[in-house]
Amino acid sequence: MTFYESHKKIEFLDRRLQREKTARIAAESILEAKSKEVYLSNQKLVKAVSDLEKLTIAVEQSPIIVLMTDIRGVVEYVNQSFTVISGYSKRQVVGKDIRSLGLILDKKPMEGIKYVMQNKALWQGEIQGTSVTKQVYKLKISISPILDKAQNITHFQYNCENVTLQKENELRIYNLAHHDSLTQLYNRFSINSILQQTIISAERNKSLMSVVFIDMDRFKQINDTHGHKVGDVLLQQVASRLSGTCKRKNDYIARIGGDEFLIILNDMQDVAFVALIAKAIVDVLSLPYFCEGQELRSSPSVGIAVYPNDGQSAEELVKNADAAMYHAKENGRRNYRFFTKELNKLVEEKNMLEKDLRQALDNNELELYYQPQIHLGDTLKFGVEALIRWRHAILGFVSPEKFIAIAEERGLIYELGGWVIETAFQQLINWSSVSEIPIKMAINISAKQIEDKRFVHDLRLLVDKYKIVPEMVELEITESIAMVNPQQSIKTLKEIRSLGFELAIDDFGTGYSSLSYIKNLPIQTLKLDRSFIDNLEEDIDNAKICKAAISLSHDLGLRFVAEGVETKGQAKYLTDNGCDVLQGYYFCRPVPASAALVFIRDYQTHSF
Ligand code: C2E
Ligand code: CA
Ligand code: CA
Repeated sequence: MTFYESHKKIEFLDRRLQREKTARIAAESILEAKSKEVYLSNQKLVKAVSDLEKLTIAVEQSPIIVLMTDIRGVVEYVNQSFTVISGYSKRQVVGKDIRSLGLILDKKPMEGIKYVMQNKALWQGEIQGTSVTKQVYKLKISISPILDKAQNITHFQYNCENVTLQKENELRIYNLAHHDSLTQLYNRFSINSILQQTIISAERNKSLMSVVFIDMDRFKQINDTHGHKVGDVLLQQVASRLSGTCKRKNDYIARIGGDEFLIILNDMQDVAFVALIAKAIVDVLSLPYFCEGQELRSSPSVGIAVYPNDGQSAEELVKNADAAMYHAKENGRRNYRFFTKELNKLVEEKNMLEKDLRQALDNNELELYYQPQIHLGDTLKFGVEALIRWRHAILGFVSPEKFIAIAEERGLIYELGGWVIETAFQQLINWSSVSEIPIKMAINISAKQIEDKRFVHDLRLLVDKYKIVPEMVELEITESIAMVNPQQSIKTLKEIRSLGFELAIDDFGTGYSSLSYIKNLPIQTLKLDRSFIDNLEEDIDNAKICKAAISLSHDLGLRFVAEGVETKGQAKYLTDNGCDVLQGYYFCRPVPASAALVFIRDYQTHSF
């Protein structure tokens, strides 16, 4: 080979080498790129696997039940939640037909499957399931289809949330909202909506329905004397006796206030049947109660309103049954009364008077009259009893017996009584500046006023405002006041007494209080009811009662007042037997302040 030839070959080889080198470099870079690609996709795969693992764990540990079946309903997968809630192990379930397991109590899921198959869409509902230990649980369930590429269903996926606790809580809240927690009867709120419903169906069926209002007699007294615990037990017994008496499917019983119960009796054949039930209620609730080892007595007053005659609306029916109940109470308690047209008139009149009474204060329609009291053999010669008068714009004078009761019933007495006290105080101050004779003032106080927490405080304010001498004021209370809540009333009366006021028991002899009880009250005066003074001259018994009451008062260190003295003979008998104070038409009727002063100034000591 010539040199030239060799050179050429070398040159050729060199070029080839160069080419191959370039090719290798290219191949190397491709390789590098490829391996980078492989690396990356490997990374992705690792991540995907880890994601899948996480997802599996998430599904497995989810508090939601996840269950998958194939198209035939054979279970392929369940998560842990399922085993926890149902008590079945995975092995007991996987591979089995979901319907054969008895997991699901109702038919709803089958309807769901049908829906999913037809619509290829999600179905949701609520079902009941039962566990291995036969515990029933409630599930919120959704069933969704799993589709292949051709949009054919291959599997069903069940997601279920255990809502047992939530449902129980909902039920508890519902019960709390609709039932009385002490007796488990319906409460005021729910009986009202039940009543509205029953009115609609009674109207539709043209059937007779009645509302029965029950109030336990003297329950407050039992509560106050024996404590709330005993009172609660009694109310529970009342509730169970009512449930035992009114147990037809359509009877609804509610406790709507402290000792107030309401019953709806549906589909009554006739009113006589309602009366039969009312009588049974009165009888059964009047039987003795055994509470906390004590035997207690109470009875019900029952009022009945019948739909449609006695009212069209729930409100009206309850109001009228309530009015009938009041009527039963007034008629000696322990009985029942139907609402009547006359009662209706009475209620309407009461409503009207209440409305007018609210305005009477503002319209200056109220006035105080004063009836003189003659003090016999006392350094103090005269007293007066302040008696309220209402001059109604249309009706003229309305009897206080009538409107005071309304004011008490309808929550007006505190304001009204406050006006009386203030007006009487003003009069007292006025007299003390114009009259040379000292005059003592007696003021009637209703039990409801004394029971009001503001009373003592407000009384003190008025004493300061008018600078009156409390010793010149006697507050008249009835026996019944101290009967309602003896401990509390005695405490309040003592506070009033410590302010300097005197206290008198009014209408003595008409209440039920025992003498030992009267002895415990911080009172100074006993005022015998005027019914005993009446016909005292003809009725030997009344005369004896007066005489005995006078000596009793003196034994207890009390002043004795006779009111309603109408004749000279009565006045003489009472004076002869040691009565301390006389009051009545025989001396003077209740009159306006100026006339009372004239009487007192002109009065010459009578000799009997
Ligand atoms: P009460 O406290 O027993 O008052 C005595 C009632 O007997 C008064 O009736 C009086 O006019 C009447 N009366 C006085 N002397 C005689 C008499 O010789 N014969 C007869 N038959 N009656 C006589 P009034 O004024 O109609 O008051 C009735 C009731 O109304 C009072 O009975 C009292 O319970 C209540 N009342 C009157 N004013 C007030 C008041 O300001 N506050 C409160 N809470 N109740 C009052
Ligand atoms: Ca009185
Ligand atoms: Ca009286």
